[in-house]
Amino acid sequence: RVTFTPIHRREGGRIAGTIAVLQDVTEQENLEESRREFVANVSHELRTPLTTIKSYAEALDDGALEDPQLAVRFVGVIRNETERMIRLVTDLLHLSRLDSKESSLRIQQTDITEMLEDVADRFSFQIRQKRIHISTRVRKDVATAWLDRDQIDQVLGNLVSNALKYTPEGGTIQLEAHKSEDGMLAVSVRDSGIGIPKKDIERIFERFYRVDKARSRNMGGTGLGLSIAREIVKAHGGSISLQSELNEGSLVTFTLPLMKQRGSGA
Ligand code: ADP
Repeated sequence: RVTFTPIHRREGGRIAGTIAVLQDVTEQENLEESRREFVANVSHELRTPLTTIKSYAEALDDGALEDPQLAVRFVGVIRNETERMIRLVTDLLHLSRLDSKESSLRIQQTDITEMLEDVADRFSFQIRQKRIHISTRVRKDVATAWLDRDQIDQVLGNLVSNALKYTPEGGTIQLEAHKSEDGMLAVSVRDSGIGIPKKDIERIFERFYRVDKARSRNMGGTGLGLSIAREIVKAHGGSISLQSELNEGSLVTFTLPLMKQRGSGA
C-alpha cells in the first residue's frame, strides 16, 4: 500500500510549489499488525493460567480446603500454572533482549562433543524415564567452533526438550554435528517422534505458533522455544531449518560460523 503526502512550499501565504511524497507503507503496516498480534497472544497466554489459578483458589476458599486430598490436588494445579507463567515471562524477556540486540554474544572457542554430551546429560532423567535412545556424533572437522556457549546451550536445550516432548516412549534422538557445504558448523537434532504436518512446517518458527495448542500446553510448552532458538542462531550469523514427516519424526538443523567472526568479542 502506498500513501500520498503533499508538501506545499509557501511564499507569502501563497502556495509556490508542491512536492508529492509517495511512501510504501506495506512493510510498516505488516510490522504493526504482527506487533498487535503478538500483544494479543501474550495477553491470552497470560490470561489462561491466571483464570485457572483464580478458579482453583476460589474453589479452595469455597470449601475444598476442608478436603485435604482435594486441596493438595488444587494447590498442585496452582503451582503448575504459576511455573508455566514464570517460564513464559522468562522466555518473553529473553526474546525482547534478543530483539533489542541488547544482549551481546560472548563468543568463546567451544568443544562441540562436550557441548552435545552436556545437553544429553541435562535431560538424562527424562531420557531414562521415557526409555529414549540418545546418541551423539561429531565429525572430526568440526571438533571446535566459536560460539556463545550459554546461548547455544539454550538452543540445544529447546530442541532436545521438543524432541523429548514429541517422541513417544522407546524412541530415538540423534544429536549430530558436521561441516555444511558452505563451510559452517551444522548441528542437528533428529527424533523419531510424532512429526509435524506439512502445512504447519513453514510457520513453526513464528512466536506462539503450535501444531496442537492443548498438547503443547499440557507438555508445559510456551510456544516460544523455536522462535528463541531462531533469534539466537540469527544473532550468530547462522540459520535454522526444520524438516519433518508426520508420524516418522523431525529433524532440526542449525548452522553457525566455525571461525571467529570479525567484530565479535572473545
Ligand atoms: P512449544 O513450547 O509449544 O514446544 P516451540 O516453539 O518449541 O513451542 O515449538 C512450536 C511447536 O512446534 C510445538 O508446539 C509443536 O507443535 C511443534 N514442534 C516443535 N518441535 C517438534 C518436534 N520435535 N516434533 C513434533 N513437533 C514439534
